[in-house]
Amino acid sequence: MSANNEWLQRYSDSLLGVFGTPSLVIERGDGCYVWDVDGNRYLDLVGGIAVNALGHGHPAVVSAISKQAAEAVHISNFFTSRAQVQLAERLLGVAGAPAGSKVFFGNSGAEAIEAAIKLSRRTGRTGIVAAEGAFHGRTTGALALTHKAAYREPFEPLLPGVVHVPYDDVDALRAAVADDVAAVILEPLQGEAGVLSPAPDFLRAAREITTAAGALLIIDEIQTGIGRTGAWFGFQHAGIQPDAITVAKGLGGGVPIGALVTFGEEVSGLLTAGQHGSTFGGNPLASAAGLAMLDTIEERGLLEHAESTGRHLEQAVAAAGIPHVTGVRGQGLLRAITLDRPVSAAVAAAAREGGFIVNPVAPEALRLAPPLIVSADELDSFVQALPTFVEGALTS
Ligand SMILES: *Cc1c(COP(=O)(O)O)cnc(C)c1O
Repeated sequence: MSANNEWLQRYSDSLLGVFGTPSLVIERGDGCYVWDVDGNRYLDLVGGIAVNALGHGHPAVVSAISKQAAEAVHISNFFTSRAQVQLAERLLGVAGAPAGSKVFFGNSGAEAIEAAIKLSRRTGRTGIVAAEGAFHGRTTGALALTHKAAYREPFEPLLPGVVHVPYDDVDALRAAVADDVAAVILEPLQGEAGVLSPAPDFLRAAREITTAAGALLIIDEIQTGIGRTGAWFGFQHAGIQPDAITVAKGLGGGVPIGALVTFGEEVSGLLTAGQHGSTFGGNPLASAAGLAMLDTIEERGLLEHAESTGRHLEQAVAAAGIPHVTGVRGQGLLRAITLDRPVSAAVAAAAREGGFIVNPVAPEALRLAPPLIVSADELDSFVQALPTFVEGALTS
């Protein structure tokens, strides 16, 4: 029996089955590659689902975490640290947030969403409008905003007052935003729904509609943020200013951290002392990791790199003319390669056998969210091998 299978059996015997059975037992990573416990190497084009933005074992992150771990890992929010304050300042800077803007740190995307829900309640209104296809997390509050019936229905009744309108449908959004609506929450690009981009003016329309109705516009940047789409945040492509954004995934490069950023003095004043909290949120270790991530992404010019390598992938796939591959959608390094039939799971399995990790995010779409340091050559190696994987999937 392979070491992978042996550990997967022990996994099944000891871990709650909510993730099904994982496909590999990973031992270590280096840059854009990971190795399993049988010594097989894989090019990691998923990056822990848009988390490992600097890949695995990046020296800047390793050294920041090591240094901070030796000084203080955790201190509670009775106290603060230089790392926490510096990360908040840096985050406000890259978000282009105006004077009076503030940050709340939690430990995950769902916690950032929970903070956003509580923020919206402080407007005195209770309604929240989200989009069909939306993914905002799995805690019960966040789950109420998530759209997928299979995730929601076993846990109903959930938070009341939430409606879902078709994504990228301005008229439907306008019709839904009545004067009891506290907030509209949108992803700039729907990752979990299959990497779907709205029309370029959708977020601008959402901004106009929410401003007119006195509702908050909350942008969920948990997957799209931290350079993933070629800008620090997806909303920046639209040239709007939201009232709040949620951030997580890439922020800590794998060290758990999430954030709610509130824009401007008025919105930032909605949650006051005692109204929210977290034991671990923004502890020195996670904050040091976040700072190293933001500094390194900036120093290495990785926003431009995400934009150019993402475009390279699009062109390489188009030029390859692969049977049953219909194109590439998405932005920057949040991409889906689309297929003309629902075989993505079999293609992803064949790719894994061939040493590549990709995610069958939808039956006809393979999601790629590789480390932002991925090279054009690394992406090319996948594109070159892809015809074999598609063929293998069709004949299996
Ligand atoms: C991953 C994700 C979440 C949830 O984040 P967790 O850290 O898994 O709780 C929420 N919104 C979006 C857009 C995400 O991609």
